[in-house]
Parts: sequence; structure tokens; C-alpha cells
Amino acid sequence: MRKCGKSSHSVAVSSSHHSDHLTGKYDYDLVVIGGGSGGLACSKEAAQLGQKVAVLDYVEPSAKGTKWGLGGTCVNVGCIPKKLMHQAALLGTAVKDAKKYGWQMPETVHHDWATMAEAVQNHVRSLNWGHRVQLQDKKVKYLNLKGSLLDEHTVRGLSKAGKETILTAENIVIATGGRPKYPTQIPGAAEHGITSDDIFWLKKSPGKTYISHIRSACSVDLRWDVSPQMAGLVTDYMEAYGTRFVWRSVPKRVDKLSSGALQVTWSDTETGMEHRDTYNSVLWAVGRAPETKALGLDQLGVQLNKQTGKIVVGPDEATSVPHVYALGDISEGRPELTPTAIKAGKLLAHRLAGQSTALMNFDNVATTVFTPLEYGCVGLSEEEAERRHGKEGIEVFHAFYKPLEFTVAERDASQCYIKVICERGGDQKILGLHFTGPNAGEVIQGFSMGLQCGATYSHLLQTVGIHPTCAEEVVKVHITKRSGLDPTVTGC
Ligand SMILES: Cc1cc2nc3c(=O)[nH]c(=O)nc-3n(C[C@H](O)[C@H](O)[C@H](O)COP(=O)(O)OP(=O)(O)OC[C@H]3O[C@@H](n4cnc5c(N)ncnc54)[C@H](O)[C@@H]3O)c2cc1C
Repeated sequence: MRKCGKSSHSVAVSSSHHSDHLTGKYDYDLVVIGGGSGGLACSKEAAQLGQKVAVLDYVEPSAKGTKWGLGGTCVNVGCIPKKLMHQAALLGTAVKDAKKYGWQMPETVHHDWATMAEAVQNHVRSLNWGHRVQLQDKKVKYLNLKGSLLDEHTVRGLSKAGKETILTAENIVIATGGRPKYPTQIPGAAEHGITSDDIFWLKKSPGKTYISHIRSACSVDLRWDVSPQMAGLVTDYMEAYGTRFVWRSVPKRVDKLSSGALQVTWSDTETGMEHRDTYNSVLWAVGRAPETKALGLDQLGVQLNKQTGKIVVGPDEATSVPHVYALGDISEGRPELTPTAIKAGKLLAHRLAGQSTALMNFDNVATTVFTPLEYGCVGLSEEEAERRHGKEGIEVFHAFYKPLEFTVAERDASQCYIKVICERGGDQKILGLHFTGPNAGEVIQGFSMGLQCGATYSHLLQTVGIHPTCAEEVVKVHITKRSGLDPTVTGC
């Protein structure tokens, strides 16, 4: 038995670590709760800098019982399986294009979900394994325990079997991310619906699927505040390729019919009329919420945002309680993205190890939505630029372009669009860049460095394009929205 830190909590200690480090006061220099993008990056970096580090990661199965390994949301139920399944979908379109390019294939080509899912899941499992090996190599103690805080230096870990482990640390980092929400007010929603925590681990195709975004019945969850113009391009494209959107509607209930099909009832928010249809699956994409309750933050006085439940942090990731830090999706006001969590985690490790004072810069973080027509952007939306600089204070250059590869394939390019938002006066500094089209992420990633360096419209014009690419259309934009001229690109 041992009494831990300042806590009066007395428990059986099963920690294999004996404290022998610099101060001798705590078991570890750093204990990280959450082995996802941010937590793993922070713990590995801190260990590299000579800190004694432990990371706790524990996956609570989804309501449908789906569970996964080490690595957090991105690896298991986020970026990685999402992008791989996106690639599977793009290949489906490419197969159609291929015929126009002379590839001969049977009239009907089938997709086998089980083959795709197995390949994706195997890759994810290899990443789970890779993370474990990396922690071992970098001498980070990995504990498959559910962590909570007893005080600002003490973490309580609980195993699946209910066994308790107490760890003390100079500093504690909370990086426990978030989980998808269910619309609990809708009868049948939780019972019959799934979320992104389940979709990537299904063994069978979900079939005809009803996807509920926060305000519309059949829609795509764009995850953040995208300007209506850009969101409209993405949804128009999807509609043209067979996704049915039911705008201005709210789901009312989900019932399982005797046939096994799921019947969804929704109402039209304008007419109040009720509609229903049957589906094989119902997927809720109504946002994510942090699991802050189980962390024991209340009794410690760690300040939370009452609306979002996220942890309030300063620019240095510090919470309202000394020695307790939070990063990644759990921290208030941060982009819910893997690279920001990783970078913030690494920088925090450097500061905690006394190696640097550098803070994370959350400005001009580029991002992409991997919808069938990809949408990438960096910097401000047109609406936000207008809000900050006034309508007269910005110049918007734009172009509708046709990807060369669409021509032979006879694909409609009406939604392939570029928008460059600049300050109107002076050097015409670029404030935002928006792109829909093939490989949007690859295109925007390159240009994002320009924005980080303070690029101006004249820098853009001085840049020579790579021909023939979609990205070259960005350096050619010259029609302003203000002029009202047709922004359709013609010729080379
Ligand atoms: C469907 C989907 C697609 C996405 N696509 C992208 C993308 O393309 N690009 C991108 O940049 N971002 C994407 N994201 C976002 C990205 O996954 C997250 O921003 C990122 O994973 C956040 O990292 P994190 O470290 O904050 O938390 P997470 O990665 O969520 O990790 C938190 C970990 O802590 C564990 N945990 C929770 N509570 C406890 C506890 N009490 N004790 C111990 N462990 C605990 C969790 O099980 C989890 O393993 C996507 C997210 C989703 C849902």
C-alpha cells in the first residue's frame, strides 16, 4: 500500500516503475493520458529529450461494440481508414474513366466491401503495432489503462479488469480526444444507428445508407464551418454522381422493420410534412464530443468550456491547474486535426523539458475534405476575410477550370473551382486559398507554405505553373469577383 502524492487516496500499487529520476519526487517526469495523435507525439518527443514518460491509452468500445488498438482516432477510426476508403471510391470513378481511355473491361464491375475492409483493417493493425514498437524503442512506458486525475501530480489508471494503478508525475498531459455523438433525442437513433467509430470496421457493406448531418437528413458532414459557396460545389458534385440530399429536414425516428430494414422518418422544416424511406444502415455524423467527465477534472478545478465540454487552454496548452496540460481535440478552440495535435504535442514536450519556449502557431493550417470532389483550403474563408477586412477591403480572384484528365473521360467539371482571397490594397497579401478538384490536399499543402511566408498576389503571379496540372490554375487566377466577368478558364 502506498499513499500517492498529495492525494489521500490509498490503493494497491502495481506500477512497475520505481522512482529514481532527477527529483525523485515522482514516478515520472511526464504522464500522458491518451495515446492518439497528440499524446503519442508528445510522449515520444519528451522521452527523446531525456524525460521519463508513461502514456496511458484505453479504448472504450463504441455503443455498437466496435473497438480498436493503439494510435487514437486518426489511425483507427479517422484519417487513415477514411482516406483509404476514399481511394477505393476514387478508383470506382477511375474504372469508369478507364473505358474512355481504352481499357476494356466487363460491362458491370463490382466492388467487394469485405476485401476492401480487410485490407484497410490490416493496414490499421500494422500501424497499431508500429506505434507500440516506437514507444518501446523510445523508452516510453505504455499502459493500456483508462486514466483519470486524482490531483495535479497523480493519475489513476484502471485496467479493463478493474485493477488500479497509481502513477505520479511532475506534469500531466491530457490528450484523450473526442468521440462521435448520437442524437439521443431521436427514438431508435442509438439502437439502430452507427457512427464513424463503426463504419470503417464493418465486415459487410453498409448498403443504402442514411447519413444525418446536423441540419439535413441525407448529407455530407463537412466537419467545420465551410463557406456556403464551397460546400455547395461539393454537394452539387455529389448530387450529380448519385447522392440524394434532403435539405431542410430533421430526422424524427428510426424503426427497425420486420424485414430487417431501417425505416427513417424525417420532417421537412419548411412545410412540417413528414417523410420516410427505408435503408440498410443509418450513420450519424452529428459532431463529436470530448469525454471529460470520466477524467476527474471537476474536483481538480480544471476549467472546461460549458458548451463544448472541452478543456480551456492557454497558448502554451496549460489548463487552469498548474502542471496539467491539454492538447489535441480535447482542448477548446483548436482545429480538430491530426497534424496540429502532433505539432502542439511535440512543442509542448520541448517546453516541458526546458528545451524551448516556442508556441504552436495555429494560423494558416491547411486542410482538406476528402469528399468525391475534394476540397482543400488554407487561411480565411471569403466570409471571414470580409468580416475582418470589410467587403471593400478584400479582392477575390476566382476561376472555374477543367482538369485535363476530365476531358477524355467526358466528366463534368462544373464544380472545379479556385478562389484566392487577397487584401485589396498594398501588397495584396493572400488571406485565403480555396480549391475544389482532384488531389486538393496535395495542391493546397504546397501553397500553404506560401501563406505561412506571407505570400502576396504578385508572388502568385511571379510563380510559373507546371503544365498541365490543376495546381497551375492557381497561379493563373486573374478574374476578380468584383468585375463580374466570366471566370471560366478557356484554353491552356
Ligand atoms: C472520421 C474522421 C476522419 C478524420 N479525418 C482526418 C483527416 O483526414 N485529417 C486530419 O488531420 N484529421 C482528421 N480527423 C481528426 C483527427 O483524427 C483528430 O483530430 C486527431 O486524432 C486528434 O488527436 P488527439 O490526440 O487529440 O486524440 P485522439 O486521436 O482521439 O486520441 C485520443 C486517445 O485517447 C484515448 N482515451 C480517451 N480517454 C482515455 C482515458 N481516460 N484514458 C486513457 N486513454 C483514453 C482514446 O481511446 C484515444 O485512443 C478525422 C476524424 C474523424 C473522426
